[in-house]
Amino acid sequence: MRYVSTRGEAPVLSFEEAMLTGLARDGGLYVPETIPQVSADEIAALAGLTYEEVAFRIMRPYIGGAFSDDEFKAIIARAYAGFGHAARAPLVQLGPNHFLLELFHGPTLAFKDFAMQLIGQLFQASLSRSGRRVTIVGATSGDTGSAAIEAFRGLSNVDVFILFPHGRVSEVQRRQMTTPSEGNVHALAVHGDFDDCQARVKDMFNDFAFRDGVGLAGVNSINWARVLAQVVYYFTSAVSLGAPHRAVSFTVPTGNFGDIFAGYIARRMGLPIDRLVVATNQNDILHRALSSGGYITQGVTPSISPSMDIQVSSNFERVLFDVYDRDGAAVASQMADLKDKGGFQISQGALQRLQEIFASGRASEDETRSTIRDTFAATGEVLCPHTAVGVKVAQEQPASAAPMVTLATAHPAKFPAAVEASCGQHPDLPSRMADLYDRPERVTEVANDLAAIEALIHERRAH
Ligand SMILES: *Cc1c(COP(=O)(O)O)cnc(C)c1O
Repeated sequence: MRYVSTRGEAPVLSFEEAMLTGLARDGGLYVPETIPQVSADEIAALAGLTYEEVAFRIMRPYIGGAFSDDEFKAIIARAYAGFGHAARAPLVQLGPNHFLLELFHGPTLAFKDFAMQLIGQLFQASLSRSGRRVTIVGATSGDTGSAAIEAFRGLSNVDVFILFPHGRVSEVQRRQMTTPSEGNVHALAVHGDFDDCQARVKDMFNDFAFRDGVGLAGVNSINWARVLAQVVYYFTSAVSLGAPHRAVSFTVPTGNFGDIFAGYIARRMGLPIDRLVVATNQNDILHRALSSGGYITQGVTPSISPSMDIQVSSNFERVLFDVYDRDGAAVASQMADLKDKGGFQISQGALQRLQEIFASGRASEDETRSTIRDTFAATGEVLCPHTAVGVKVAQEQPASAAPMVTLATAHPAKFPAAVEASCGQHPDLPSRMADLYDRPERVTEVANDLAAIEALIHERRAH
């Protein structure tokens, strides 16, 4: 399997190279050259298998010769061993035809663990084989950073630097990033918002001298291996609900378009997905883009679902590449308009193709709170604010025979203040992390300035 850039000007890479590289050298994102197909019989045969076995079958065709079957099985087993639920991604019923897919049983209580735990094990296996050392740099609106730090803490061939927007992540998220004591972990509080953090990470990747000097590697949701890991739970949940004999729809609380893009890949592989519904908070650029075709940035307004406070949705580029018939030059020109003019217009043909697959909706802050309250009253389930955005948008979708699955992207205890204010319930942390508030914190504040951040990384990384 070979990987090509969405902007068409970067070297074609293997799975392992694309994983270690992250962002392509032309500024684009790596995608597989072709999408492996899974037949209805193969989907039917997934019923009753463990999460790990499904993960192996679904991801195997994408990794090419990077690892032997036994190596890859061992990597998957280690990745999910630390989860607090035997099913890894259990389904819970919310209404007559509406289900929650609980993706928050990993070590940092958000769905990011599914990809990050796997990528940690993949990096470890690959780097220890080659003797290479890398510097991982990532931007986070809260959950990616904690998941990355948890996955890479203490690994011998990796330094990990996480940029998060100072004062704009929840206390639990911050503490998950600042309390690990391993010397290879560095939490950087940037004076800016998430889009600033993400932009500085992209700048570092485009600074080739710096990039090559420190052996930069990226684990943001632009990393293909992360998308791939997330494809798996679309299969496990759809099969539990009757696929391939019955189609299933998904509503996905969306920020960077990574999680829902994984659903799109599952659909392209042959999983019968009826609708993929993008759910945004008040930072609704994706909802506006999918409704009108105008992808126009407006600045970020902080919300109670901070992991979705995003205006530049990196992975959207991957789906654009497809609906522009894999024309890298067309994608590059739209991305140039985004950078220079703050937006672009999706062509009519491409928009039509997007609308055949994706629906969308948004939830205001009040609607998010009332959904937490009403869902608790109706079902006893306590939702995190991100999940509540999804549930609200799912409930607005036209009735259909296909079951609706809303992705529950984080545990409510990651956002206790917003949850308690909405439904009166204080969500407790699982007992395995109950001492989080007592551990000492370690964090460095830094200006939203490329040179300052690069200097800090040069100074702190192991040499
Ligand atoms: C990251 C995150 C999202 C958004 O996921 P994307 O892949 O960026 O679209 C939603 N909810 C939570 C809790 C998250 O951590």
